[in-house]
Amino acid sequence: MSCLFCEIVAGRIPAKMAYKDDDVVAFHDINPQAPTHVLVIPRRHIPTLDDLTEADPATIGTTLVRVARIAREQNLASDGYRVIANNGEAAGQTVFHIHFHVLGGRNFGWPPG
Ligand code: AMP
Ligand code: ZN
Repeated sequence: MSCLFCEIVAGRIPAKMAYKDDDVVAFHDINPQAPTHVLVIPRRHIPTLDDLTEADPATIGTTLVRVARIAREQNLASDGYRVIANNGEAAGQTVFHIHFHVLGGRNFGWPPG
């Protein structure tokens, strides 16, 4: 089964890259919901948070540390920003490769829709 985000990681589908290293890739969302909307993903394919195991803390921890770094690099840190991981269909997950949405450049309401 092909995975859109694995294809982006492999460079077979183009994306506007924001960051990449050996573990993590970040690119701008194709349908941005804020002035800055970046998706931060582990290179390794894990479909949902529910698929994480006790073998995965390093992967997911590294990804979250990169989230903060990318937010700083995108100049979001001083004003604040939102990080979202939609998990499963009821939450609106459409791409089943774990990703953190990093949204900034505007104010956000609570509760989320
Ligand atoms: P989610 O609905 O939480 O699974 O988020 C998937 C996100 O991927 C959505 O915000 C889409 O706009 C975004 N998306 C889908 N296809 C692409 C693509 N080719 N490049 C960048 N972002 C994409
Ligand atoms: Zn994948």
